[in-house]
Amino acid sequence: MSKLLEVKDLQISFNTYGGEVQAVRGVSFDLNKGETLAIVGESGSGKSVTTSAIMGLLPKSNTQIKNGEILYKGKDILKFSEKEMQKIRGKEISMVFQDPMSSLNPTMKVGNQIAEGLIKHRGLSKAEAKEKAIELLRKVGIPKPELRVKQYPHQFSGGMRQRVVIAIALACNPEIIIADEPTTALDVTIQAQILELMKEMQKDTGCSIIFITHDLGVVANVADRVAVMYAGKIVEVGTVDDIFYNPKHPYTWGLLGSMPTLDDNESEELYTIPGTPPDLTNPPKGDAFAPRNKYALEIDTMYEPPMFKVSDTHYAATWLLHENAPKVELPDAIKKRIDSFLTKQQGGNKQ
Ligand code: ADP
Ligand code: MG
Repeated sequence: MSKLLEVKDLQISFNTYGGEVQAVRGVSFDLNKGETLAIVGESGSGKSVTTSAIMGLLPKSNTQIKNGEILYKGKDILKFSEKEMQKIRGKEISMVFQDPMSSLNPTMKVGNQIAEGLIKHRGLSKAEAKEKAIELLRKVGIPKPELRVKQYPHQFSGGMRQRVVIAIALACNPEIIIADEPTTALDVTIQAQILELMKEMQKDTGCSIIFITHDLGVVANVADRVAVMYAGKIVEVGTVDDIFYNPKHPYTWGLLGSMPTLDDNESEELYTIPGTPPDLTNPPKGDAFAPRNKYALEIDTMYEPPMFKVSDTHYAATWLLHENAPKVELPDAIKKRIDSFLTKQQGGNKQ
């Protein structure tokens, strides 16, 4: 598989009145052509900052890119000028945000919003762009697209608006779509429809997707690979099967244990990770997850764990994988929860 995007040791801080917020602390990952990579982690773990960096959308005023490269087709886009980024943004890499209302312009007809990129990036005439906008609305499952193109965002329901945003993201046939919590604001049934739609679109166009979510539960059906982020770092990365059947990092265990299942009879077993993420103006020495980790070892408070190799596809940064570490296995209660989650998913659509 060929690498479309390579993020290498990315480090990003923000200058704030409270000090330097170390939001991204050495993140590396690849995105292959045609694959879906999910980035998962609690709120504040650095997911959006990482993807905003890829889009070149970090605030100029207080951002420091301290280190790293983001190679898109081999070229470091961190070195691109705003003008060069504008040629890529929306055309080669496009974005679907959590709240469709904030990415749509309330005063502009939906059709014109879809047409905009087509005229700017693809050089279509106004009439051609309008035709294409209708076709795109139809493709994302909006009934009566000929009528709908002439309407404004407030005339659409939440789920339909997110379909419009996806139509805009798809318009120029991008190589990469970054979806940042695209379904978080939607109710569960609509969430499933939107995820299904994104999968279909990917089959159609062969684009790669970076799918960001705080909910590991939604990735089982959509992702090929999963990167788990905590406190500005990737702590585990693997295929969906690696992460669901053989998770190695206690933080991943915590996320898996706190996955809501659809009809939650076992809600009394629902696990929550104790404590809160660290203050990123002053990240702890050693393993940042140690204070919340009941399996923490003495070494965790002193040295940061490296990425240990579990298999060719699977890596995790926990000292528990060191050959001299005590043998700690995935707790039974969490294993049961994962099993019951996956069983319920089978009724769904895991290929
Ligand atoms: P999430 O994983 O929820 O998407 P973010 O990437 O948005 O997390 O944020 C990571 C950290 O960076 C958080 O501590 C957040 O408060 C901080 N942060 C994000 N943007 C800024 C900014 N513009 N200025 C200061 N701090 C920021
Ligand atoms: Mg976010």
